[in-house]
Order: sequence, then C-alpha cells, then structure tokens
Amino acid sequence: MKYEDIIHRCFRCGYCKLTGDYSDFNCPPYRKFKFETYSPGGRMWLIRGWLNGEIKESERFREILFSCTMCANCVEHCVFTFSDDLVNIFIAAREEMVNKGIVPPAVRDYLKNIHVNGNPYKESADERGKWADGTSVEAYGDQEYLFYVGCVGSYDERGKKIARAVGNLLTRAGVSMGILGNAECCDGNEVKALGEASLFNLLAEQNIVLFKKLGVKKIITLDPHAFNAFKNDYPALGGEFEVYHYTQILSPLIQSGKMPLTEYNLGITYHDPCYLGRHNGEYDAPRAILKTIPGVRLIEMEQNRENAFCCGGGGGNFFTDILGGGEDSPGRIRVRQALDTGARIIAVSCPQCAKMLEDAIKVEEQEDKLKVMDVAEIVSNAMG
Ligand code: SF4
Ligand code: SF4
Repeated sequence: MKYEDIIHRCFRCGYCKLTGDYSDFNCPPYRKFKFETYSPGGRMWLIRGWLNGEIKESERFREILFSCTMCANCVEHCVFTFSDDLVNIFIAAREEMVNKGIVPPAVRDYLKNIHVNGNPYKESADERGKWADGTSVEAYGDQEYLFYVGCVGSYDERGKKIARAVGNLLTRAGVSMGILGNAECCDGNEVKALGEASLFNLLAEQNIVLFKKLGVKKIITLDPHAFNAFKNDYPALGGEFEVYHYTQILSPLIQSGKMPLTEYNLGITYHDPCYLGRHNGEYDAPRAILKTIPGVRLIEMEQNRENAFCCGGGGGNFFTDILGGGEDSPGRIRVRQALDTGARIIAVSCPQCAKMLEDAIKVEEQEDKLKVMDVAEIVSNAMG
C-alpha cells in the first residue's frame, strides 16, 4: 500500500482528534463512537495491523475504514511532518480494499451507480440539466466561465434549488458563464475519496477532454467537492484550469456595491464546508459576503474556520451513510453548536452540508428555531 513506509511514525499522541486549543473532540467518527480505532491515530494503527496480517477484514473493520469523513481535522492538527498525508493515507487504504473487493455494500452500490449512470442517483443523463429550466442560465459557448454544478446540484431537490439560486445570482451580477447541461458528468471527488482510483481517473480524463474541446479556461463550481477535485487532482492528469468556488466570484462583486442589497436583519452563523475550508483554505469569501449584507449579524460558532466541526457528509458519507445517525451524529452535534450561538440561520456554501444539516435540524426538532440557507439564497433574499 502507498504510504506503508510511514504509517508506523504515528505514535497515537491523539492531538489529531482535537480542536487546535484541545477543548473538544473534532474527529466526527471518534466523537460519535469514542473508540480509539475510529480516531485518526487509531485508524493508522488499525491499517498497520491489517497490513501486517494481525487484523481480520471483518465487516466492522470495513465500516471503520469507510466512516472517516475526510474532514481533514487531523491534517490540520497532527503535529508531525507526515500530517499533510493523513487523508491520503486513509484513501490509500480504501484503494487497497477496493482492489481486494472488500468494501461495504453501500460503497459498492455508490461506485456502481457512478460507473453505470455517471451519477449516484440512478438518473438518466438526459435529466441532468433540468435544474436550469426556468432560469436565465445559458448553455456554455464562448463565455468566460464554465459554471459546473455537480451531481447533488443537478439531481437532488435541495441541491437544485441552490444551483438555481447561484445560477440566477451569477447572471444578475453579469458574470459571463454557461453550463454544460446534460453533457456534464460527475467530477469524481467522492469516487476518489472512496478509493476507486481507476474510476476517478476515467471520470477526470473524460471531463478534461470535454473541457478542453470546449475551450474552457475558467471554472466556477457550485460545490466545494468539485472545486477540490478540479483544483487539486485534475492538474496531475493534465487538467489545468482556473478554478473558483462561486463565493469567490460573488464576494468582490458584492463588496464593490455592484449588487445593491437591502436590509436583512438577522443573526446568522456560518458553517465551513471541509472541502472549502480546511482542504482549500477558503474561509473568508463566504464570510465577506454575509458581512456586507446590511443588518446581518455574523455570529461564529465556537468551532469555526480551521476548527469547524464537519457536518458528516464528506468522504462519500453523504451517499453511503456509513457513519450513521444518532444523537452524536456529526450533523446533530453541529446543529446544537449552531443553536448555542442564538442565530436563526445556519449559512452554508455546499449543497451536501445544506442537506446534512437540514436533516439534522428535523431530527433535533428545531425547525422553529433554526433554518439552513445557502449563502446564495441569503443574498438573493437581500436583493429582493
Ligand atoms: S496522526 Fe499525528 S497527531 Fe494523530 S496520533 Fe498519530 S502522530 Fe499523533
Ligand atoms: S479526516 Fe476527519 S474524520 Fe477522518 S480521521 Fe481525520 S479527523 Fe477523523
């Protein structure tokens, strides 16, 4: 296995499962199960034992390896030089399991659906561009940017609403952009996270060929997951594009006053998506947008920015639900952290976070106290 020569360097000091000030546990699977094997260091030792033949490939073992949400809290807080590779090590172990055909059924089904349908929803490619019906978003031609929406924004009902809000905002802001519609295909970020390297390469190569054929130079993504794949993984496969998350495009436009906003008198807390925040260091653009809206009081949760607690949807868990529900599920913990701020809205900038947190609010029965809104939806409301 890749990284086999470095996993022994972890001596399970445990810093990686905590916030930067050591005040709370911040690794979602560890926080839920409170067993060391679910923590980053314990996971490393488990992989080591497996590679040495000391651990059997049980169902439990598979679930532990696939319960990591790839939130990168461990990358941020492990104190050793190999910390940058922690998530890569967990992906490498999953790759090994995919190659051996020993993945949990939910992972197998997700990968099969992507392979057969090009999306995890078992939907036809002919339905992919339908989210844009009734909007003024145009097909990609010779515009400056490609607006890439992704599977959740294209097929999930909540995701589609957010895609429409972002698409309409970009159009109103005069951003020159177009979409691929039915020609769009999965970006593969979760496929890679779930350890199917060959399928990821296939999807990436297919996308790169299409983007290059269409003359795409700049991409705006709806979803931080696609943003991560295009920015960090596609260049090694020959796909060098200028990649932006939509908040990075809207932030300077809104701050310059080009998009007049009316008063929106509310307390809002912002949830950092792991693939925008810790994985890519973008904490400011969404906050700058919210702070520019007159009347908005941005109230931070105690765990924010580098210490933000994951919603539980990363690393493919949004689709496989291997981490599962319960009182200590990440989404429910995050909702309780948001409630502590007294804010009435959790602002998000990722359709997966939106769905995870909305479901958690329902289970916590807090729908009358807290609402999830994408940053784009908040701006749209403030524009009237
Ligand atoms: S991964 Fe790093 S911080 Fe975590 S237990 Fe191992 S050495 Fe310590
Ligand atoms: S990436 Fe996140 S969920 Fe996975 S082991 Fe590290 S801290 Fe835990």
